Formats: sequence, structure tokens, C-alpha cells
Amino acid sequence: MDLKDKVAIITGARRGMGRTHALVLAKAGAKVVVSDISEKDCQKVVEEIKKGGGQALAIKCDVSKKEEVDEMVKKTVEEFGKVDILVNNAGIAQFKPFLELTEEEWDRTLDINLKGYFLCAQAAAKEMAKQKSGVIINIASVAMGQQGIGFPNIVHYCASKGGIAAMTEALAVELAPHNIRVNTIAPGMIETPMIDPIKKDLKTMEAMLARLPMRRVGKPEEVSNLVLFLASEASSYITGSTVVIDGGWLAG
Ligand code: NAP
Repeated sequence: MDLKDKVAIITGARRGMGRTHALVLAKAGAKVVVSDISEKDCQKVVEEIKKGGGQALAIKCDVSKKEEVDEMVKKTVEEFGKVDILVNNAGIAQFKPFLELTEEEWDRTLDINLKGYFLCAQAAAKEMAKQKSGVIINIASVAMGQQGIGFPNIVHYCASKGGIAAMTEALAVELAPHNIRVNTIAPGMIETPMIDPIKKDLKTMEAMLARLPMRRVGKPEEVSNLVLFLASEASSYITGSTVVIDGGWLAG
């Protein structure tokens, strides 16, 4: 799973899983663009990669804004010459009862979690199509629907993640003639700041762990290893797939 000479963009990479995706892909040899809404923390990740002998660049980008997304891809090509891998990872999760959810809150979640994935995928795919190769990895969630579990108080998040899974299948078909593979990763509960509100709710946490065959939440690096596999030639015949990584949650 060697990514030597590959260039990867990871969105939402200042912390959480995006950060470990950046570190793992860099360790495999990729030149990595560490992108997030705040450049300051991205720089810390870049320093960490450089300390390990890798190459990286921090780029501030709000994925819901087309101008910023186009600029991120432009800067990547200026610095590293191309884009081989996009990890659409940036996302937000707001917990709120459906009957209290505002139109603005719905729009914000869909703008970042779904429109942001479209904008980044399109900008990156235009570069990938020129070189007739590329890989797009979209991070959804087990909350994407059709999995036998409903998630209350997070309806807008679930809708965005279901949209990602559907978009992945359609994109995989449309981009295959350009030799671009597109896959979804659907994580279960992973130890990042995103699940802090769930961890505070001890009753919910207990119920979730009781349903989880492995009786523990996942580590960000465990998802990053799957990102590495899907980004590499080791997965050369996999496209249009949704790979669940959840400690057996859906099976339990
Ligand atoms: P996280 O630690 O909250 O990381 C998400 C990152 O995305 C944050 O750095 C966040 O910045 C950034 N971000 C938010 N809005 C953005 C925007 N408009 N443009 C660019 N970056 C933006 O969460 P995580 O758990 O690592 O989540 C990574 C992905 O995995 C998300 O798509 C999430 O939905 C998905 N996921 C997570 C879990 C889990 O259990 N943790 C499970 C399934 C799926 P700010 O901190 O400034 O908002």
C-alpha cells in the first residue's frame, strides 16, 4: 500500500479522523494537503508530518464555499503538480430534536456534509480526469440509512450521510471511464471530539456499547488504515462500494 509520488487532499484534517488520515497517508509516502476551516491547527498536523520526513501543505478551506474549494485544488496543483487522492472527510454533527430543527440548521449541515463533498469531488475529479486516474473516498456513517438502525435527534446528519452513499454509487459509474474510483467509508462510533456529546450522555453510551459486539468505540487510526487501503492500488478493483467499519455494530 505504497503511496509514493501520490498527492492526497484531506478535508477536515485539523483534528479527529481527518488528522489521522493525513498522518497515515503521509507515512505511506503521499504528499498531503491538510485542509480545514482553520489553517492554524492544520499547520500543526503539517509539522507532525514533516518531522516524520513527509511532505505536506496546510490550506484553509471551508468545503461549503465553491471559491475556497477551487482555490484549494488550484494551490495543491501549484505546489505538488496534481491531485491523485481526495478524502472527503469534513463534517459536522449537530444533535437536536427534529421538531425543533430550524431551516438554517438543516441547510448548514447539508451545505457542509453533502454539498461540500460534491464541490470537492468535482474540483478534484476535473484534475484527475486530465491524468486519467484518481481515487475519491467519501466518509459517510452507519447513520446513512437502510442499515436497520434509526438515529434520533440527528435527522439532518443522517440525510446528509445517506446522500453521500447515493452520490458515491452514481459518481463511481460516471467517473469509471476516467479511471477514477469512488468509494464510501461508513464508520460506526469512533473516538473523536465529534462524539463528546454522546459520551456525556452515559445512558445512551451504555446502550450503544451494549449493542456493539466489540464493546468499544473505534480508534481513528483504524479508519485511516481503511482509507489507506482504498486509496492504494491494493483496492484497484473496488469502486462504487460502501465499506462499513463499526466493530460489528450493524451485525449486533
Ligand atoms: P471532528 O473531530 O469533529 O472533525 C471534523 C473536522 O471537520 C473538524 O476539524 C471540523 O472543524 C471540520 N469542518 C467542519 N466544518 C467544516 C467546513 N465547512 N469546511 C472544512 N472543514 C470543516 O469529527 P470526526 O469524527 O473526525 O469526523 C470526520 C468525519 O467522519 C465526518 O464526516 C463525520 O461525520 C464522520 N463520522 C464520524 C464518526 C464518529 O463517531 N466520530 C462516525 C461516523 C462518521 P471544526 O472543528 O472547526 O468544526
